[in-house]
Amino acid sequence: MKVKSGDFVMPGDILGVTEQFLPDEWTYDDDGYVKSAIPGEVSIDNKNKTISVLPSRGNPNLLKLGDTVYGQVRDVRGQRAMIDIESSKYNERGLALPYMAAIHISQVKNGYLEKMTDAFRIGDIIEAKVTKIMGDNLDLNTSDKECGVVKAMCTRCRAFMVPTEKKNELYCEVCDRKERRKISSEYDF
Ligand SMILES: [Zn+2]
Repeated sequence: MKVKSGDFVMPGDILGVTEQFLPDEWTYDDDGYVKSAIPGEVSIDNKNKTISVLPSRGNPNLLKLGDTVYGQVRDVRGQRAMIDIESSKYNERGLALPYMAAIHISQVKNGYLEKMTDAFRIGDIIEAKVTKIMGDNLDLNTSDKECGVVKAMCTRCRAFMVPTEKKNELYCEVCDRKERRKISSEYDF
C-alpha cells in the first residue's frame, strides 16, 4: 500500500491500515483497513495520522448518518432485507454512489417482529433512516412512524395495495386479500 496525497482513488480502495492512520473525512474503517467512501483525491495528515479523501467533483451528493432515504426492496432473506437506494428524501439531486443497504429484523420497528416477510416484500418501496455507512453500503432503520413501506404491490397479482384500518396490514382489491407490512405513515395510495 503506497497511497500518497494527491492520488486519485475510487470508493472501496484501500488507503492504509488503522494502526498507521485513522479514517477522517470521506474514509471509513473496514476491519482494520482505511478505505475511501468516494471518488476523489487522497489527503494524508502525517501530524495527526489521519487520511481523508477530497471529493473530485465539488460537493457530491453523498449520504450522511441520519439521512432519510427511499429505496426498493431487492431481497428478503432470513433476518435481513436488502435494499437498492433510489434517492435521498430531502435532496432532489441524484446520489453520487449506487448505494446498497441492509435492514436487520431488530431495526424494522419498535418491539418484536417474528418474520421479516411480515414487514417487507420484494419490490416494496420503503422510506428509512441511515444508521451506518461503509462506503456505498448502508445499514438502515425503519422504526420511526414515517419510515417503512410507502408503496407495495400484492405478492400474487402485483396490483398496488391500499391501507386497512389495521396499522400493519394492506389490502389488495383485485384478489380480496390482505398482507402484512411495516407501513409508513406516509403510505402512498
Ligand atoms: Zn392481488
